[in-house]
Order: sequence, then C-alpha cells, then structure tokens
Amino acid sequence: MVKAEGVHKSFGAAHILKGIDLEVAPREVFCLIGPSGSGKSTFLRCINHLEQINAGRLYVDGDLVGYRQKGDRLYELKDSEVALQRRDIGMVFQRFNLFPHMTALENVMEAPIQVKGEARAVARARAERLLDRVGLSDKAKNYPSQLSGGQQQRVAIARALAMEPKLMLFDEPTSALDPELVGDVLDVMRGLAEDGMTMIVVTHEMGFAREVGDALVFMDDGVVVESGHPRDVLTNPQHDRTKSFLSKVL
Ligand code: ATP
Ligand code: MG
Repeated sequence: MVKAEGVHKSFGAAHILKGIDLEVAPREVFCLIGPSGSGKSTFLRCINHLEQINAGRLYVDGDLVGYRQKGDRLYELKDSEVALQRRDIGMVFQRFNLFPHMTALENVMEAPIQVKGEARAVARARAERLLDRVGLSDKAKNYPSQLSGGQQQRVAIARALAMEPKLMLFDEPTSALDPELVGDVLDVMRGLAEDGMTMIVVTHEMGFAREVGDALVFMDDGVVVESGHPRDVLTNPQHDRTKSFLSKVL
C-alpha cells in the first residue's frame, strides 16, 4: 500500500530524512516510533505530499506520490491531481483541528460535500454511521468546545473516515490527551485495524503497538534503525539506539 525507496527530505541545509526504505502492506497496522526530531511527522507529511521529497520514490497504492513518471523523468502533478491523491489518505494529528463553528456531525459531513460534491443527505447518513462507530452518536449536535479532547479526536477520526480513505495516517493521535481519555481513542483505532484499514501510526503508546501493530519501525535521526514485528523489536531490540530509546519510554 505504501512503499518508500531511498526517501530524502531536507529543509534548507537541514537533512531530515536520510534515505528511508520501507513497505506497508495492505491492511497492515504499521507503527513508527522514534525520538523527538527524528523525522516521523515529516515522513508522514511526505506520504500525502504536504512535503515534497528531495530524492527517492514514494508510492501509495502503486502510484507515485506527487509525480508522474515518463521514462526516466519525473513530472510534477498539478495541484488538482495531488488533491485527488490526497482524497484517498486520511490524516489525524495530535491536535484535532476540528472546525470550531460546526457541530460534530457537520464536521464529519463537510469534506464529502465540499470535495466530492456529495448530496447532503448521503453525507449526513454516513456521518451518523461514523459517529456511531466512534461511540459519539449522542454528541452529534455538540460543537467541538462542548466535547472532551478524546471525543474531539474521535470526531477527527470519523471526519477522516468520511472520505473513505484507503490509508490512514495517525501522528501521535493520543499524545495531547489526558491519560484517562487515551483508551477510547485507541479502542477506535483498534476497531479500524480489525476492519482491515491500512494504518501508519506514529505513537508513543507501546502497548498499542505491541497489541495491534503488525510491523514496527524505530527511526532515529532520519534513518530506519530497526524494524520488525512489534513484539520482537520491543522485547528484543538489536541496536543500541533502539535499546536506549525503549529504556526511556517503556
Ligand atoms: P516529534 O516526536 O517531536 O513529533 P518528529 O520525529 O515528528 O518529532 P519532525 O517533526 O519530523 O520530527 O521534525 C524533524 C526535524 O525536521 C526537526 O528538527 C524539525 O525542526 C525539522 N522540521 C520539520 N518541519 C520543518 C519545516 N517546515 N522547516 C524546517 N525544519 C523543519
Ligand atoms: Mg512529530
């Protein structure tokens, strides 16, 4: 579903991603861990072309992200074509970023109506289903300010799902939440995983990675240091850098 080949990304002179190679299979829950500043968010942003890579290749579902290849040459996609690619990728951030002037239901309805030109009734029916799925049927009419952080994050997940993405990217979706609110959000993500959604999850929740993850990558300083099954990497890390990181977070 996602393939990275020698992906490099710099911001000015700062070389952030230094040749990332990895592959995410369909229906896989792929966890990404690593110290602050190691490039995890940058990598996620490259996957939906919020950042442009400087070298290498990134594919989502077989398509090059942001480019078209003819022979050996790459041609940048037009904005409208990039937007089409992004429609298939849902993203959930640390901060929920809901539209404050819209109810939970309206937040979830918005993108299909605006982006796909979907009929309101269709968007509403799906939004109701999705709010039910994230356990918030009774909060449909609440505004974000009337929801807890965990509830807002579940609305944000429903909103991303409303576009019926084939890939979901999560960037530390629970790290801004009070500890007692984390579980509900992880439960929603666990349900998504059981339904077969392909997910890349940047997280500090090692319990989630161990129980739900199919693969785990430890990234440090812009390179993949170690990867494998979460149980193996977490219980039997091979590299000193992984060991030292895990000793701080486990
Ligand atoms: P954290 O765990 O703190 O979220 P991270 O692994 O997600 O860290 P990134 O946010 O990807 O790290 O940042 C990696 C490096 O890239 C950091 O040094 C950051 O300052 C730098 N960086 C990220 N975005 C930009 C930008 N737009 N311009 C310049 N530097 C940037
Ligand atoms: Mg980050």
